[in-house]
Amino acid sequence: KGGSPERGIPFNDENSLTRVYAVASGKGGVGKSSVTVNLACALAARGLRVGIVDADIYGFSVPGLMGITQNPTRVDEMILPPVAHDVKVISIGMFVAGNQPVAWRGPMLHRALEQFLTDVYFGDLDILLLDLPPGTGDVAISVAQLLPKAEILVVSTPQAAAADVAERAGAIAVQTGQKVAGVIENMSFLTLPDGSTMEVFGSGGGEILAKRLTQTVNAPVDLLGQIPLDVALREGGDAGLPIVLSEPSSAAAQALTAIAAKL
Ligand code: ADP
Repeated sequence: KGGSPERGIPFNDENSLTRVYAVASGKGGVGKSSVTVNLACALAARGLRVGIVDADIYGFSVPGLMGITQNPTRVDEMILPPVAHDVKVISIGMFVAGNQPVAWRGPMLHRALEQFLTDVYFGDLDILLLDLPPGTGDVAISVAQLLPKAEILVVSTPQAAAADVAERAGAIAVQTGQKVAGVIENMSFLTLPDGSTMEVFGSGGGEILAKRLTQTVNAPVDLLGQIPLDVALREGGDAGLPIVLSEPSSAAAQALTAIAAKL
């Protein structure tokens, strides 16, 4: 359920073939948004119809990562999302002036998200990705209520402590009855100029997280891939051109493209 009675959320239509993934993390800064935009661009490059809803209300960053400066346009009752790199993108950041912080409480967040999902015209999509705020807050619960078929993708670093908090984000699925689509480990290692690798944030977090979530949700949860640290990934984000497009032959881009192929 959700949306106004006369016009519900199109992704909940029983004929909708759109696969919906909510990208979650235990804490901020692990690369959740970077992973979201790269997966979207990799999927669009394969010819799929892809949309992103930036639901990271307090820390929206998707427009910048996608190089979007234009605003959504309005046609009658509908809002048309800007398109970048063949991906349709809507963000709370497109509705606030300048860089103003958004200080909304639960019910307002829920209504904003509901309006996004109801009034933004995405057309037929193969895949919709939602970039959730970090942690297990109101938005994650609203997404579960508004889009019950959304599967959760959990992003974490290899660090044990990060995996611990990420487990909570994934474990929400038990309460909401959602499926956990898999774990993505980011910042797994850094390749040094001499070719050796350095595990800056330790190792094993993604594997452990996938095993623990398998037990928690009582269904198989796989580690979908490990993405190395790469300066080009950060630069691509700063430039609004995700690394899967700017440096497709890099190890990081290849890892992201391989993960996208599993969705
Ligand atoms: P989150 O959405 O989890 O808060 P971001 O995607 O905003 O995280 O990433 C946080 C910072 O780390 C950004 O500056 C981003 O460019 C950088 N970053 C993320 N993943 C990588 C990576 N694999 N290699 C290099 N920098 C990365």
